[in-house]
Amino acid sequence: MTPTNTEPPPKLAAPVPAPGGRPRWTLAVKLALLFSALLGLVQTGVYLASSLAISRIATGEVSERLEVGAKVFRQVFDQDRRRLQLTASVLSADFAFREAIATNDVPTMLSVLSNHGQRINADVMMLAGLNDIVVADTQSLRGVRNAGNRFPFPDLSAAAERDGQASGTVVMKDGNPYQLVVLPVLAPRPIARLAVGFRIDAKQARELKAVTGLDVSFVHLDGDGRVYTSTLAAAELPALGEVLRRHENISIPFQADFNGEAYEMRVVPLTDSGGSRIAAVLQSPLAETLAPFNLLNTTLFTAGSIALLLGILGSVWVARHLTRPVARLTLLVDRIGRGEFSLGERVRSNDEIGHLAKRFDAMREGLAERESRILDLTYMDPLTGLPNRTRLVEAVHERLRQASPCSILYLNLDRFALINQTLGHAFGDRVLNAVGRRIRDLLQGDALVARAGGDEFAVLLSNQDPANAEALARALAAALERPLVIDDHPVDVGAAIGVAHAPAHAGAADEFLRAADAAMQVAKARRAPFVVFEPEKKRAGEGQLSLLTEMRHAISNNEFALYYQPKINLASGQLSGVEALIRWHHPTLGLRAPDSFIPFAEQTGYIRQLTGEVIRMAAQQAAEWRRAGEPLEIAFNLSPRDLLVPDLPRRIQEAVARFGGVIGDLCCEVTESSAMEDPEIAVERLGALRELGLTIAIDDFGTGYSSLSYLQRLPASGLKIDQSFVRHMNARPQAATIVRSTIELAHSLGLSVTAEGVEDVETLTHLKAWGCDYGQGYFFGRPMPAADFDRWRGIYGPALAVVNANTGRHATVAHLFPVGKASGDE
Ligand code: C2E
Ligand code: CA
Ligand code: CA
Repeated sequence: MTPTNTEPPPKLAAPVPAPGGRPRWTLAVKLALLFSALLGLVQTGVYLASSLAISRIATGEVSERLEVGAKVFRQVFDQDRRRLQLTASVLSADFAFREAIATNDVPTMLSVLSNHGQRINADVMMLAGLNDIVVADTQSLRGVRNAGNRFPFPDLSAAAERDGQASGTVVMKDGNPYQLVVLPVLAPRPIARLAVGFRIDAKQARELKAVTGLDVSFVHLDGDGRVYTSTLAAAELPALGEVLRRHENISIPFQADFNGEAYEMRVVPLTDSGGSRIAAVLQSPLAETLAPFNLLNTTLFTAGSIALLLGILGSVWVARHLTRPVARLTLLVDRIGRGEFSLGERVRSNDEIGHLAKRFDAMREGLAERESRILDLTYMDPLTGLPNRTRLVEAVHERLRQASPCSILYLNLDRFALINQTLGHAFGDRVLNAVGRRIRDLLQGDALVARAGGDEFAVLLSNQDPANAEALARALAAALERPLVIDDHPVDVGAAIGVAHAPAHAGAADEFLRAADAAMQVAKARRAPFVVFEPEKKRAGEGQLSLLTEMRHAISNNEFALYYQPKINLASGQLSGVEALIRWHHPTLGLRAPDSFIPFAEQTGYIRQLTGEVIRMAAQQAAEWRRAGEPLEIAFNLSPRDLLVPDLPRRIQEAVARFGGVIGDLCCEVTESSAMEDPEIAVERLGALRELGLTIAIDDFGTGYSSLSYLQRLPASGLKIDQSFVRHMNARPQAATIVRSTIELAHSLGLSVTAEGVEDVETLTHLKAWGCDYGQGYFFGRPMPAADFDRWRGIYGPALAVVNANTGRHATVAHLFPVGKASGDE
């Protein structure tokens, strides 16, 4: 893919990972749990309540059964009593019987008693006298002797005497319980007492059980808790006795366990008054009564469990159904988080969630729009509308990642800062815009053209072979040589272009850009239209090491020399001073220009020694000229690094003292960019130099970025307009404007102005007309070795005097005296 300006910019930010992934407790799970828990609670509640009610009903049922049993039991028992009473009253009214009593006819008495007794199956028919001595007793027929004994139940007999009749349950001599009725025999006064009774035995217990449906036991409550007879199995009787002994309050129904089974029990006392405490115990096994209730309970439990299960399944379904749109919304939000703004699956529902989804959709659109705006701001240079440096770096990065060959043309405009300062920022902006347009027009969409910052542009070319890329660089340089037209004014820009190729020159984006930038710097320094990056220059390789060694030797071998270029006072035409420019007489390479070693010396720090050597030579030459009676100001150049050397003033002073010169003969030139490197230090160091008596000039003015207001703070007395403005002043009106306004500005700041690069008479004429103070250039003389310069001076001075006297025009002097041929300055 070819990177073009229309290529979609990359995503704004790395995708935002969905925070924490899926939640552990999803809404669906929570809802399902909540519903299930509620349902479970309700079901359990219902089950417990009904089971409680059932158990209440069941216990009620048990008590009821016993109560009914007890009533039935009493009725049956009462019935028996009434039968006994009836028999007894019939018998006591029997005439023959009364007669027999009156006559004490025991056999008749026995026979009557026996007859009546048999009719109701009575077990006891006993007659006692008023003295309570038993007279006749049918039991005697079975061999039990009672006659002649005292009637064994005096309480009953007393009650009968008192109330006309008495009844009760008693234990007879044979140890068995009996239901007994006692009546007085009246004739009409009481003559005897009659006792009629049934024995309470197993048969009666069985009958009672048949009627009541309960187990019936007859027991003796006091003492040993003896059981007389019972429908229970004989093996259970001891346990029953034990229970009765243990239970203190047996007047109410109670529950008891015996032989591993639970019983509800009810004790029915049979003795109305006094006497022995005989009672019937009615009991019903709980299990039996409760069985249907237990079944009901189990059924309820099963039904409840099934309902709960169904409820849970239902709530899971409902929860999932309810939360599915929410899950979809979550997906949507996740995608927005990842920066995907395309329309996904829509959430279609008419409820609140549907509304929420619609809002989200609106938000998504808003975000998409805003992101594209932010992308524009992030990746676009607002001034030119071109991609900015960030975008360029990313595109380069992308190319390199795809390992596709590409080239960068890195371009820096010439003199832009000055255009900005002299013609205004608004104008500068329009220049930048026009430059951007021109580059784009030339490259016609097959390259990424970016504004890399300030007055720098970069072009990323893809899939071009290096030769092609270089041809484009040449074409671009040529295109920028043509003046731009802004508001009908031609503006002259020009640019230095650095070219780098990947993968040949770099593997990483920043390295690649640096290579192109470095090549651009070289192009600037060499004043070449474009320079291709030379990889061996990027590291201190063997060549560089040897260069350093060579430079070290150069000082001791005296291979460095200063060439002197005259500086002319334009008002008077007089020689006002010289600029000392270094040359290296290399033993093998011959004469080398400063551009070929100064940058390296600056990089390696060797510049300190070099500057020291320059100062030494300049001080020596100045002293020599002064001694010869022709003192001349010598300006030497300082590098940015030199300003960082704290003892610079001391070294200058020492050099001057060593050759017996005058410090005022020296002037130092610092480029505005070197002053800008560390403005505070620059102001301080230059102040110290000024204090020493040194004159200071700002060199190459117009090529850097410094503001005039900053320059004002520097203790400089003059500035030198860079030769690139001056040289083509005649051909390019814009350059002329810049030079002219610079002169005015400098004067308004109290600075003198030197124009460098004066090559022809027209330039000189203009400069003079505009009030430029000094001129320097090939027109007057090239940089020359001291001896040559002395010769030049010997000719120029007198010639000037002649010219001035004759024509008043000094401008032709250089034509008359073609000097500086041997300068080595090409
Ligand atoms: P610069 O300080 O701007 O020096 C002026 C340069 O312009 C010199 O180049 C000079 O030969 C050239 N020049 C002068 N008049 C004309 C003209 O009419 N037309 C054209 N086309 N060129 C002209 P040079 O000597 O090659 O020096 C280049 C740069 O090297 C200097 O620029 C200065 O920055 C640096 N340099 C030279 N000597 C030293 C030195 O001793 N120390 C340091 N630190 N830098 C030096
Ligand atoms: Ca200079
Ligand atoms: Ca200069």
